[in-house]
Amino acid sequence: MMKIAYTKPSITSLEISYVEDAIRNGWGASCYDYIHKFEKSFKDHLGVDYAIATSSCTGALHMGLAALGIGRGDEVILADTNWIASVAPVVHLGATPVFVDILEDTWCIDPRQIEAAVTKDTKAIIAVHLYGNLCDMNQILRIADKYDLAVIEDSAEAIGSSYFGNSAGSIGDFGVFSFHGTKTMTTGEGGMFVTNDQALFDKVLTFSNHGRSSIESRQFWAESIGYKYKISNIQAALGCAQAERLEELVQRKKQIFTYYYDNLHSLEGITLNPKKYGCESGYWMPNIVFDQKLGISRELLIRTFQQNDIDARVFFWPLSALDVFNSKNNTPNAYSISARACNLPSYHDITFSEQDRVVDVIRSLL
Ligand SMILES: *Cc1c(COP(=O)(O)O)cnc(C)c1O
Repeated sequence: MMKIAYTKPSITSLEISYVEDAIRNGWGASCYDYIHKFEKSFKDHLGVDYAIATSSCTGALHMGLAALGIGRGDEVILADTNWIASVAPVVHLGATPVFVDILEDTWCIDPRQIEAAVTKDTKAIIAVHLYGNLCDMNQILRIADKYDLAVIEDSAEAIGSSYFGNSAGSIGDFGVFSFHGTKTMTTGEGGMFVTNDQALFDKVLTFSNHGRSSIESRQFWAESIGYKYKISNIQAALGCAQAERLEELVQRKKQIFTYYYDNLHSLEGITLNPKKYGCESGYWMPNIVFDQKLGISRELLIRTFQQNDIDARVFFWPLSALDVFNSKNNTPNAYSISARACNLPSYHDITFSEQDRVVDVIRSLL
């Protein structure tokens, strides 16, 4: 029996030919060609005005938050259920993260908890479209408007997701994406900053170039201390090929989720990623949540998968539970759901019979 991987990218001869071309020819005067092409195709796909390719989503988020002027004394609200990358830049900038609870059905930030957490120091909300599920953007924008807060969409997991027809990442002040090897499309490591705000774009562009303005005529002249979060032309070549195949990559993710859904959703006490009115998920990661009354823990689940040569992973821990924060606050959904949920394998080349093996393990536990 072959081990079933958790995630791995879909690489074809198209990716290989673009990368080979970048390695052979993408130097000197051509050293940004694939980067610019990648940015253009990505912003066209999303329907936004500006895009800057980066070496990671974390870097894109760091620069975007810095460009908003977020720093010491400021508070940034985000969901307790999150990957560490969404909060690390907040801490690096000296601001204080404020963790609030998630909604039980979407596993995304609860707008009512945002409003309850707003103080005079609050500057921004980071809305993370967890596992491709959409945040309640209308409510989040309403709150942001009322208290004059910036809205950031961490869309690292939400390529192919849309909210009432608008692509995830195109709705807030800025959006960020990840092309880490586990994501729906990959450049190995990589990310993207997107916005419709020209002033914000100009600031991030300068930051991304070690503080050197694109209109500065003096060579090697930095006007501020910036960042070094650039993507390489070689990675961007891989990104160009993946961007050309994006519809196919997202369709396959949807198909994989649908197969799990068709085989699992009718089982008593089992919940999968939600289908919400007006929301279209890109289904980066199928997840299963066991109802409390079934008494099936994350540990039992992961162990049983391991025994069957299936690499499933735990649902995100509450960030407040980490020793580095140790700020255990009142986020019961974040604690409860993570203890009885897990990710299901969903790489593009998974076969239906491999998915059947995953389904059989879940059924055997019930
Ligand atoms: C993967 C991920 C990130 C980090 O992306 P990198 O490219 O590894 O920096 C950030 N936020 C979310 C929600 C993610 O899933």
